[in-house]
Amino acid sequence: MRPEDILAPTPGGVFCPLGSFHIDPTRPVARALITHAHSDHARAGHGAVLATQETLDLMRLRYGEGFAGATQAIRYGESVNLGGAEITFHPAGHVLGSAQIAVAANGLRVVASGDYKDISDPTCAPFELVRCDVFITEATFALPVFRHGDPNEQIAKLLHSVALFRERAHLVGAYSLGKAQRLIALLRQAGHGAPIYLHGAMEKITSYYAGRGMALGELRAVRGAGKAEFAGTITICPPAALNDVWTRRFPEPVAAFASGWMRVRARARQHGVELPLVISDHADWDGLTATIAATGAGEIWVTHGQEDALVHWCVGRGLNARPLDIVGYGDEDDGGGEAEG
Ligand SMILES: [Zn+2]
Ligand SMILES: [Zn+2]
Repeated sequence: MRPEDILAPTPGGVFCPLGSFHIDPTRPVARALITHAHSDHARAGHGAVLATQETLDLMRLRYGEGFAGATQAIRYGESVNLGGAEITFHPAGHVLGSAQIAVAANGLRVVASGDYKDISDPTCAPFELVRCDVFITEATFALPVFRHGDPNEQIAKLLHSVALFRERAHLVGAYSLGKAQRLIALLRQAGHGAPIYLHGAMEKITSYYAGRGMALGELRAVRGAGKAEFAGTITICPPAALNDVWTRRFPEPVAAFASGWMRVRARARQHGVELPLVISDHADWDGLTATIAATGAGEIWVTHGQEDALVHWCVGRGLNARPLDIVGYGDEDDGGGEAEG
């Protein structure tokens, strides 16, 4: 049996011929296994969806009840058999509910990582290393220039700025699923007890996280609050809102943006960001290469970003590696877009 008999790359996502399912398909299919709820991976309109309960809940929040014909929830570590393919979901450490999907048959195991990060995040289960023969990795930050460093240092930088400019409002651009809630949790861990304000686009998903017992402290809607109230406070908003007339309701706003891309000064300037915060929900160069090596996989399929550099690194290590040309990933989170799902 070849790896392609277990998972075959197609332009719309990888497909398992044994179990007749796609993983994170970019177009509607009969049966989809979904790694996580970011909109480039989790689309509406599939016949049946298998995913973690959190991913299903988040898809329902975003797309409404009828987002799929049928749904089935699976827990981390639980197995299901589809047409002779043994499927297990393992934590990916990316956002709440995110999973790597392992598909095994005839003693061969292929792992589709989805998006992942290998550092701790108070809002989701930690990344689990899964040994495998073929590892399908993302490559969002797969260039040696991307080293994210310690997120707590970035949080300290933000809090220092808030303490320094007490008359100004701090607006932090963050993706509405995952990054926003992680920022809030990191701020709370750092001892920031003041109310944190939320852009309307953040409210639904953030209250879902809070409902799962996460310590997010007092959160207030921006809507309805007066200008003076925002002095010396932190507001979390979608990145696109930073360049919107919406910012006029804040006193002398300081524009911050939490993203792995903030390592690149030109990116920060391009977004008019005064306070770049290098905080990413994706593995950096060191995280990607260490993870690939640790899986023990002899064959690496690379998707979703800087494929060439990572393929080159793999080949240099004597691994078989190739890019997967799947169009349509990276629309929502750090994967590139400023679009919000
Ligand atoms: Zn993602
Ligand atoms: Zn992605």
